[in-house]
Amino acid sequence: MNGSAPQLQAPASDEIEVSLLGPGFGECIVVHLGQGDWMIVDSCIDLNSNTPAALAYLDRLGVDPAKAVRLIVATHWHDDHVRGLAKVVEASKSAAFAITGAFQVKDFRLLLAPWLANHTELDCKGLGEIAKLIAISKQRNRSPIPASENKMLWERHAGIPAQIRSLSPSDPAVAACIARLSKMDPGAFSRRLPMIEENHASVVLSVEVGSRRMLLGGDLECRSDRSFGWLAIVDTQKDSGSLKHHVFKIPHHGSLNGHHEEVWSDLLHPNPHSALTPVVTGKTQLPATRDKDRILALTDHAYLTAMPRKGKFRYPRDRVVEKTMQEVARQLWTIPHLQGHVCIRGKHGDDPSTWIVTCHGAAMHLSQMPDS
Ligand SMILES: [Zn+2]
Repeated sequence: MNGSAPQLQAPASDEIEVSLLGPGFGECIVVHLGQGDWMIVDSCIDLNSNTPAALAYLDRLGVDPAKAVRLIVATHWHDDHVRGLAKVVEASKSAAFAITGAFQVKDFRLLLAPWLANHTELDCKGLGEIAKLIAISKQRNRSPIPASENKMLWERHAGIPAQIRSLSPSDPAVAACIARLSKMDPGAFSRRLPMIEENHASVVLSVEVGSRRMLLGGDLECRSDRSFGWLAIVDTQKDSGSLKHHVFKIPHHGSLNGHHEEVWSDLLHPNPHSALTPVVTGKTQLPATRDKDRILALTDHAYLTAMPRKGKFRYPRDRVVEKTMQEVARQLWTIPHLQGHVCIRGKHGDDPSTWIVTCHGAAMHLSQMPDS
């Protein structure tokens, strides 16, 4: 699928893997749940092959998505999380598909009907992806699972027990989104859904394989009202006596509005393996230096998939070094430097502090991110 890229070694049956893939704009998580079962969360495009990053990666591992992917989750409908999602669902023929419970497919269908009547060319962004997903679910006669607080999305009992639960959106967040949707004029929007769903409707996932747990934070934000966002999760998880997580996909590209001390103290073990993707849009470049400093004060094991800004790396001002770098750069230039992959992998029975983190492409330890 992706030409000359070398094939990688797939994880062993008893190994867990969390792979975070991201260029300067986009995010996708690929998780090995042990025993050859996989999950994909969100989607972005692989710049080498121009195919969905999750499919390009599984192809390099020699994993067939039609047989191995059990669950696909769309955390929310923002453009940086949905590119190529319909292709991922199409290729993963036996997988269940979950979306935020804040929007049901039937709501989308009603809302999209006038738009679909006027648009035959579907693009790769929000609305186009949703329209394609509706068509696939119709074809398969299988509606997406609405994810909501403390809902079991997938379970395995044979061998190493495993489960995937959604921890959000909270019930008040679902109600607020549905109220908002009912007031919208379907004819008024064009190709995207920028105002339809805020980040407080984003899906957060808790993945448990054996005794190891991973918290995948989507783009969920914090609100002062504890019935919304991260604080709603902190409260419900405390009440249900849930155990803490060893791995953390940091929410909302490290932004301050996705951060709360109580998430780190109540939902995570100290010093967890953590990873995040950058987002670079017109005015926004995340993570910023203050985000980097805040995260590094909380964990030594924080990794970033790519630089949060466009442009070339600055090389040392030394003639010999510069000449060498120019020669090397010619080769490096063929690999898009804005794309990276953080892979966290280890045996389910081993202490997660011994798990191995590898950085591919533009990925780096967060401390290596230059100050902006
Ligand atoms: Zn995002």
